[in-house]
Amino acid sequence: MRRISIFGSTGSIGCSTLDLVGRQRDAFHVVALTGGRNIVKLAEQAKEFRPEVVVCADEKDVAALREALAGTGIEASGGRSAILEAAARPTDWTMSAILGAAGLEPGLVALQHGGVLALANKESLVCAGPLMMEMAARHAATILPVDSEHSAVFQALNGERVEDVERLLITASGGAFRDWPIERLATATAAQAATHPTWDMGQRITIDSASMFNKALELIEAHEYFGIEPERIEVLVHPESLVHAIVGFADGGLIAHVGPHDMRHAIGYALNWPARGDVPVERLDFAAIGSLTFRAPDETRWPALRLAREVMQTGGLAGAVFNGAKERALDHFIAGRVGFLDMAALVERVLVKMSSDDLGKAALELDIVRAVDAQARALVDEFVGVPVGSGGV
Ligand code: NAD
Ligand code: MG
Repeated sequence: MRRISIFGSTGSIGCSTLDLVGRQRDAFHVVALTGGRNIVKLAEQAKEFRPEVVVCADEKDVAALREALAGTGIEASGGRSAILEAAARPTDWTMSAILGAAGLEPGLVALQHGGVLALANKESLVCAGPLMMEMAARHAATILPVDSEHSAVFQALNGERVEDVERLLITASGGAFRDWPIERLATATAAQAATHPTWDMGQRITIDSASMFNKALELIEAHEYFGIEPERIEVLVHPESLVHAIVGFADGGLIAHVGPHDMRHAIGYALNWPARGDVPVERLDFAAIGSLTFRAPDETRWPALRLAREVMQTGGLAGAVFNGAKERALDHFIAGRVGFLDMAALVERVLVKMSSDDLGKAALELDIVRAVDAQARALVDEFVGVPVGSGGV
């Protein structure tokens, strides 16, 4: 039996992971499940999957979690240190699907016991790519990308040499506002941004798709994970979301990865790797699909893409600043304190303001990553004119 843990089990990726695990129940022993504030769902999952330990993000919720699990014999705990303690328990496979920079440290701890870290949490690579990769190498752990585009690239590179790659093309649906007139974007609300044309995902990543901050993070993620130069990585708008990535090789040949827009494919690939298991996703009917379309992204509509290129040029800690500022700007947008276009403007202001802080220094120390993340968030709050908030790594 394989020992597995799922961090962020109550979220969109976490639930899809458990859906797959539930179909091969006898193959797995669940070590830990962790969630945020949805105690009812976390307790339900724990009763079904019988983990050794179940952890909620906030210590204040532990009493409710213990009450919900009374008589089951399942250990329950809460708070950041309890999540890290759960991450330290040895597993063969761990899903990192906590949202945002908060997912970085549990992932780093999990890497220390080796095995596979299935990485949905792209923020880990954006904030501290070198630290993640170094930790994996030091402990002979394997990081498998779960982001659909990166899983697609990983699959296309199977049996290939990275040095033969000429370019990477990662696709973007274009999100909720792909076809809106640019003039309307300033008035866009969080509810409008949180509807996705193709993928079914958590609220925040769906809004990040509309602003292309999600794709901006993915550019940086691809650069950090595959070690390919920023100039060789392109974004292609592909409204059908069926081609997830295309890898172009030195001889002009291209390998495209095509699949349904269902995250269970990428999760299942990571779960069954290096084999391929039977994953219950739709089998595509190309004759019925008929055609696939592609277009270049417009960087005036989506300034986040331009900012991501600047961040990759600076390198080092710029990714942590970019992500921290983005997360905080998104908090303000969801709370209705700033407009849709203000998010990119705020992130750019933070990057400019912190540009003198030697951001090019390698992101190799967690404390430094944490400090610049907090500074970026505080600056966003200052620009928006609200009391300095919390959250972050
Ligand atoms: P989600 O909001 O649906 O779920 C996030 C999970 O993390 C929940 O269990 C939540 O309770 C937990 N969580 C949130 N904040 C926490 C904190 N501070 N401490 C501990 N736990 C916390 O998010 P999601 O859409 O499932 O995304 C999870 C990660 O996967 C993100 O990094 C996202 O970018 C990435 N991802 C998601 C998708 C998708 O289809 N949803 C696709 C690719 C990558
Ligand atoms: Mg993606």
